[in-house]
Amino acid sequence: MDKVEGTRFVFVTGGVLSGIGKGVVSASIAKLFQFRGYKVDMMKIDPYLNVDPGTLNPIEHGEVFVCEDVWIFEPAPGYSFPIAELDQDFGTYERFLGVNMHPSNNITSGQVYLTVILRERIGEYLGKTIQVIPHVTNEIKRRIRFAAERSNPDVMVVEVGGTVGDIEAMPFLEAIRQFRLEMPPGHTALVHVTLVPYLETVGQQKTKPTQHSVRQLQSMGLQPDVIIGRSNDYLTEDVRQKIALHCNVPVEAVVSDPDIDVIYELPLIFERQGLGRYLAKLLQLSEHKPGQHLSEWESIVSKYTHPSDTVVIAMPGKYTNMQDSYISIKEALKHAAASLGLGVKIEPIDSCKFEEDPGTIDSTLSKSDGILLTPGFGSRGVEGMIQAARYAIENDKVFLGICFGAQLFFVAFCRYVMGLSSAHSTEVDPLTPYPVVDLLPEQRGVSAKGGTMRLGAHEVFLVKGSRLHSAYGKEVVKERFRHRYHIIRKYAELGKEKGLLISATDTSGNVVNAIELSGRKWIVGVQFHPEFKSRASSPSPVYLAFLKAAHEAKRGRSGAEGQSLITV
Ligand code: GLN
Repeated sequence: MDKVEGTRFVFVTGGVLSGIGKGVVSASIAKLFQFRGYKVDMMKIDPYLNVDPGTLNPIEHGEVFVCEDVWIFEPAPGYSFPIAELDQDFGTYERFLGVNMHPSNNITSGQVYLTVILRERIGEYLGKTIQVIPHVTNEIKRRIRFAAERSNPDVMVVEVGGTVGDIEAMPFLEAIRQFRLEMPPGHTALVHVTLVPYLETVGQQKTKPTQHSVRQLQSMGLQPDVIIGRSNDYLTEDVRQKIALHCNVPVEAVVSDPDIDVIYELPLIFERQGLGRYLAKLLQLSEHKPGQHLSEWESIVSKYTHPSDTVVIAMPGKYTNMQDSYISIKEALKHAAASLGLGVKIEPIDSCKFEEDPGTIDSTLSKSDGILLTPGFGSRGVEGMIQAARYAIENDKVFLGICFGAQLFFVAFCRYVMGLSSAHSTEVDPLTPYPVVDLLPEQRGVSAKGGTMRLGAHEVFLVKGSRLHSAYGKEVVKERFRHRYHIIRKYAELGKEKGLLISATDTSGNVVNAIELSGRKWIVGVQFHPEFKSRASSPSPVYLAFLKAAHEAKRGRSGAEGQSLITV
């Protein structure tokens, strides 16, 4: 493959509805170029006015993804904001592509307007009236170029959040129109993802919403090159012809995005429809045929079918009424299960239910093979989470606590094993006599919320002989963090004689990064988020060990049941 002359840009817009999987489509498109040996990177434009999604409620917006690096965003001289919290779609990009995403690749309206307004204040545009066109649109184009210059990919896929027609997205679409005009022909492509609903009553896929949304795009000077129709099934030939005719694209540029069980299959579905070849040609890339990356991906995807057994993981938490709140955790469980030849059934449980009716704790959790206690913030539902951890400790259940889940597992241990009955995290009970989880020293005095947690990847030192050490098979790893509170070492050390082991620390050796129970089932709590580094092609060692242990527990249980049947 020849070196590409200049980065190619693929812009992905959405029509009709949000939530039709534009992130997965964008990542799948990038994957098509990876199949061909090209270096890819991805950006996401979020039209909301938050500077980053770190302050967004997970129930409203889904998970906040944490990337490896912390980027210091400097909108104007004298101003700086650390950013490491990104839109959850970046998790999808990393899981599909296996490439670390940089925080500057997530542009929000908040960042763009902040830059323009602060620069006006310092006199950068002296005498000029500051306007959306050209000042805001210039800043958007500058940011897109900045990201491409930093990573210098062959292909940059830029997903535009929201739906065409949203007021907030207008400046971005206008900037893309200008950007395309400024680039040489054949260096940019526009892919529009729309919903093609299936109407049961008439038994047909309907194209009218797609026609309307493409017309809206055209009215802004943007003609899509490719239209991807999200539908219940493959688009019928009739429907493809109709979309092509009404939306001004060749029929081979109308591509199906049907319902599928395994999202990682989507790049293969696109490949089979010729989308990779079509886009490579359109972008004047020399390599039209996929290489060995395609067969590697096919073998990864094939692991998701025909599992030899299924493990049930109960997942008590606070944000269970939003599908995407724990998306990286769910995907990490699936990656680990697939690589072990297993299936995984994930059961989210609203921890408030355990508070309302403690009788349901046993009946719900006893059916699972493992319990995963989730990350979170604030006091709602916390008592229910602590009782779930207590259940795991007292019933010797395979258990993984993530961040808040690890902290609350430690609270349960202090209360019910060490006898410190009112132990708590000061996040929930600032006046507890036993502050077993407390603010990190550097967090004292921090009052601003945006970007001020301990974020990004840090080195974790694993204690030899621990379960965690054997999961990783090495002593030092880098994992991603997002927290203000931590497990207090003094109490963790007190727990030693009751079987608690500090299994990982920070570089200094003083800050507890993970704990586990020795001599029992696999019961581990980690202060970091291993799910953020799990990829379809390389599952997280922590999740692998957890699922292996859950599967062993299941086999042990069915063995024991089998035996008792024989003796009865
Ligand atoms: N609320 C806890 C803290 O700030 C845990 C955060 C999390 O689970 N990501 O430390």
